Amino acid sequence: MCIFCDIVNDKVKSHKIYETNKTLAFLDIHPISNGHILVIPKEHYKDIYEMDSNILIETIKTVKAITGILKDKLNINAVNIMNSNGEIANQTVFHYHIHVIPRRENDNLNF
Ligand code: 5GP
Ligand code: ZN
Repeated sequence: MCIFCDIVNDKVKSHKIYETNKTLAFLDIHPISNGHILVIPKEHYKDIYEMDSNILIETIKTVKAITGILKDKLNINAVNIMNSNGEIANQTVFHYHIHVIPRRENDNLNF
């Protein structure tokens, strides 16, 4: 069982922001900053090592779309884009995902 597959299949609730036929973007349940979004492939890949290259391109295109949405809707023009692979790298959910973390002046975030 995989929590992000359950989100894709609407078995687990999430706040969805945007989707394509191959990818989904939704709010992180424990946001590092307001508007912290996760972008995932709808198909299950554990990490970058398993990830299909074409799906990776689709996923990063969705990341790009999300940065545009954050700019238009929340006036965010600074963002960290992050992806962890493997337990040693602090990956905690083993369904590939890219974090989009909005940054604001003097937010003093450390991660
Ligand atoms: P990782 O540590 O693997 O890079 O990131 C996993 C992220 O998934 C964490 O930021 C965590 O807050 C988020 N997360 C874990 N479980 C859920 C969930 O059930 N729903 C949502 N929306 N986010 C989750
Ligand atoms: Zn999954």
